[in-house]
Amino acid sequence: MTPIQALQKYFGYNQFRLSQEAIINHVLNKQDTLVLMPTGGGKSLCYQLPAVLLDGLTIVISPLIALMKDQVDSLNLTGIPAAFLNSSQSPDEQKDIAIQLKNNEIRLLYVAPERLFGTDNRMMAFLKTLNVVQIAIDEAHCISQWGHDFRPEYLMLAGLKNEFPNVPVIALTATADKLTQKDILEKLNLHQPAVFISSFNRENITYRVNPKKNSFNQLLNFLDARKEDSGIIYCLSRKSTEALAEDLKEEGYAAEAYHAGLTNEVKARNQEAFLKDEIKIIVATIAFGMGINKSNVRYVVHTDLPKNIEGYYQETGRAGRDGLASDALLLYSPGDAMKLRGFATVENNKEQSAIMLKKLDDMVNYCQLHACRRQFLMHYFDEPFPDNCGSCDFCLSEFVKFDGTLLAQKALSAVARLKEKFGLTYVVHFLVGAKSQRIWEEHKLLKTYGAGADISRADWQRYLRELIAQGFLRISEDGYSALQLTPKSEAVLKSELKVELIASEVTTEQEQETLSYETELLANLRKTRQEIAVGENLPAYIILSDATLLEVATYLPQKMDELRLISGFGDVKLAKYGREFLAIVNSYSQEKGLTSRITQKSAKRERKAKPKSGKVSDTFMATYLLYKEGKSVTEISQERGLSPTTIEGHLSRFVQTGELDVYEFVNESKIAAIKDAVESYGSLMLAPLKEVLGDAYSYGEIKAVIAWMNREV
Ligand code: ADP
Ligand code: ZN
Repeated sequence: MTPIQALQKYFGYNQFRLSQEAIINHVLNKQDTLVLMPTGGGKSLCYQLPAVLLDGLTIVISPLIALMKDQVDSLNLTGIPAAFLNSSQSPDEQKDIAIQLKNNEIRLLYVAPERLFGTDNRMMAFLKTLNVVQIAIDEAHCISQWGHDFRPEYLMLAGLKNEFPNVPVIALTATADKLTQKDILEKLNLHQPAVFISSFNRENITYRVNPKKNSFNQLLNFLDARKEDSGIIYCLSRKSTEALAEDLKEEGYAAEAYHAGLTNEVKARNQEAFLKDEIKIIVATIAFGMGINKSNVRYVVHTDLPKNIEGYYQETGRAGRDGLASDALLLYSPGDAMKLRGFATVENNKEQSAIMLKKLDDMVNYCQLHACRRQFLMHYFDEPFPDNCGSCDFCLSEFVKFDGTLLAQKALSAVARLKEKFGLTYVVHFLVGAKSQRIWEEHKLLKTYGAGADISRADWQRYLRELIAQGFLRISEDGYSALQLTPKSEAVLKSELKVELIASEVTTEQEQETLSYETELLANLRKTRQEIAVGENLPAYIILSDATLLEVATYLPQKMDELRLISGFGDVKLAKYGREFLAIVNSYSQEKGLTSRITQKSAKRERKAKPKSGKVSDTFMATYLLYKEGKSVTEISQERGLSPTTIEGHLSRFVQTGELDVYEFVNESKIAAIKDAVESYGSLMLAPLKEVLGDAYSYGEIKAVIAWMNREV
């Protein structure tokens, strides 16, 4: 069996992601490998697939018992025999597994490192009697003190290469931190390892930062649109996780708290309920998350400022492991930054304090950013990312800018006149000339007092924040949060530098392109999945992922052969659950008069290919480009001086190549009827078709469907 065949047979996926294939080949060649891939990138497959192909046992070292069970359940469901050994099992269970291991009945064995190198070393002696063909070290950053999750037991793993000198070791981690990466390589003692670094960009996550005003209301607004989804809300303190979980419960949300201060029993119960979708929201401190493999977490909210970008990125990365669109929202208030500054100072350790403060500053800069957030994050991790991403709050908003130099000058000179000793609110009151007693009498005599009376307080606040974000002002770090000038201020005051300010913000609530799927059907599929999950006592996402169900509800497979093309249905799952899910799709389609759209699935995949030049003439291309600019058929026909029919003909050509989607031209409900007519009468003559179909169908629509039926895929 080749790797790609195994991928299809066991996992039901059609293609490898990122560098998975190269990594797998490397391991199959018995070479040591370090894999750096973001959360959700698909690391597990990099050792699970070789485990299937290599004839022998793969040992997987993993730090968390909870994670082991999840992975093992998932593998067994896929038809790959796997087991774990840990302290939660009875001696009988362990003996049972030992027997299976001796009989070569297990492909992957998960163990914790302390287990491997236990005091009497019996485990190691036993494993050495087996045919070990691969060793995988999951969460490899746990070996580094620089990482955020150091586990001393991991240091013992350096001894692995001595015990199994000829067995390839594959170490995997999602850490993007360069220092930690270097440390892993040094400490693991690998033999000439190949290092595979994937992009750390998480395309399917939209990053947003909102100013924190009334965080509970903001949260409710956010959650209101996501009632069916699972999410994690991170808070700074244990107390606030519990309070927030209670408040959310009162609003009717199924939420529970999770933090290190809860008993193991409560923690396990809440985590389990979350995995099984019995509760939708976990309100947690950062103690929660590592080892949470739940693939359908749709959003991560930070109600408090994270301490550094590394942590923030790791936490937001827990959203959308299944690759579906997901959200990261951070509620930011400058006050939080002040609070954290206090915590960041480590007593008697100047050097470390400085590092932590610098990291906090970076976090604050990210929040105050007026540029693409993804670009900032990628640069932070030393990854080139030249363009705006199009899917963060900045990229999704349209800003109207104006020359704000004069306003900036007023603000900066006010700050100077106030001797850089007063906070934002005071400066605003001073600028608008507030009569309030809070303004010192001597300040009321200054020339800049009331110099900005024509502008509302709210606007001034916004402008001042923007000046801070752009680096023309800063907030003092002495605990008083006074506004101060910066090295950039002088040039503005001397009119040597122009300042652009944002007049208003129009959010283009343009939804990103999503597949259109049958909502009701998806709900039915989910319900059935949940029933199966309860029956088998497993989390629903292990039975089939959300992404898989979404594909089913989109492409409406009608036969087993079609279902096989859905990503996530490998042989075993197909045999086990295929009929049950097909029956649901069949009856739904019948009821609604829908047919399979599975051919569209391959069309979609091909769509990225550019039209082959030479094949498509310039006049076709000119029409296509105008259409892509958003112009209608009528507009294009006027602009190009061609008849609408001709323009429609041009566009049909692109439907045929798969560049354009037929659904853009023809209402879904009409497609089946046109297709029927074409199948009965042929597509050579349009007029008879038009006659059969009637006035409700235009020539353009008929042409588009014919092109679609003839598409070159
Ligand atoms: P990581 O360990 O890197 O966080 P996982 O191994 O949990 O990521 O994989 C994330 C999700 O992506 C899982 O649901 C997995 O089944 C899925 N996946 C992995 N590789 C592929 C692939 N080639 N095609 C489709 N889905 C994949
Ligand atoms: Zn962006």
